Amino acid sequence: MRLLVTGGAGYIGGTFIRSALAAGHEVTVLDNLSTGHRDVVPEPIRFVHGDIRQRDLMDELLADSEAVVHFAALSIVSHSIADPLGYYRENLGGFLALMEAIADSPVRKLVFSSSAAVYGMGEGRPFKEDDPRRPVNPYGGTKLAIEETLEHVAPGLGLDYASLRYFNAAGAMDDHGERHDPETHLIPLALEAAATGGELKIFGQDYPTPDGTCIRDYIHVEDLAQAHLKALDALGDGLRTAMNLGTGSGFSVREVADCVKNVTGLPLKVSETTRREGDPALLVADVGKAWDLLAWRAEKLELSDIVQSAWNFLNPR
Ligand code: UDP
Repeated sequence: MRLLVTGGAGYIGGTFIRSALAAGHEVTVLDNLSTGHRDVVPEPIRFVHGDIRQRDLMDELLADSEAVVHFAALSIVSHSIADPLGYYRENLGGFLALMEAIADSPVRKLVFSSSAAVYGMGEGRPFKEDDPRRPVNPYGGTKLAIEETLEHVAPGLGLDYASLRYFNAAGAMDDHGERHDPETHLIPLALEAAATGGELKIFGQDYPTPDGTCIRDYIHVEDLAQAHLKALDALGDGLRTAMNLGTGSGFSVREVADCVKNVTGLPLKVSETTRREGDPALLVADVGKAWDLLAWRAEKLELSDIVQSAWNFLNPR
């Protein structure tokens, strides 16, 4: 398929384009490089430096595409709390501009990067797709607003879509991994602390979880990428839905810290600090729907394999 991949110079997008290329797709990346890196996009993938709000550019790119995979977005919860309006402007505003252009184009297939952040606090069990969506931070709010826009707008356009609700993307490919600036994610921060003798701060020890720290469902980015390929294959017969992408298993912050010690063989200093605003206690996926609809499930289920791949990326041999 001829794919237009917005945000393909980022962490998850950069993983997807490698998998899409390997699967035989023809890929064009559109990225404004506000958070992505040009060198994430390898030959022979076409790279276009631009923004989804540039309508003439979008018309030209969409005219030559069969499907859009829309990663481009801001994705740091704490930044969204500091600048909620900016997050809505970038994420929702960017998406609306994309949809206006798609509406006037021949493209009728869209894969959208949604997030487990649409769910909010939950009830201490894995989230199912039809659970109430009550985001507790502006980042999750932008993802919910986009999901709702798709629900209302896509049928009238005859647009098929999959809103893929990522749980915690983690791990790396040999030549591509997380390079956020600043880095805010647990696994790369813990690896860096172990490598440099720095300290990992554990945000909150009084959550209603067995060890008091937050539980997350860490899914390898390559597994995420494969789910996108399956979703693209499934679009075209009227599929318009949202799906969780996770492993179905959760690990606490302390378990991740212990895993980092084991994988690196290094000591890891931790300190206990207060909760980080906007963090739900438990985010774990019920993975049944993606299996039913896409025959997809995550294959890298060991946290140590995920952490090891991120460690290998930081320490290339
Ligand atoms: N976390 C932490 N210390 C850090 C970074 C993250 O304790 O330096 C915790 C954070 O509070 C959350 C979990 O690790 O409970 C995962 O956070 P991350 O930022 O990796 O992903 P998020 O769940 O926010 O998407």
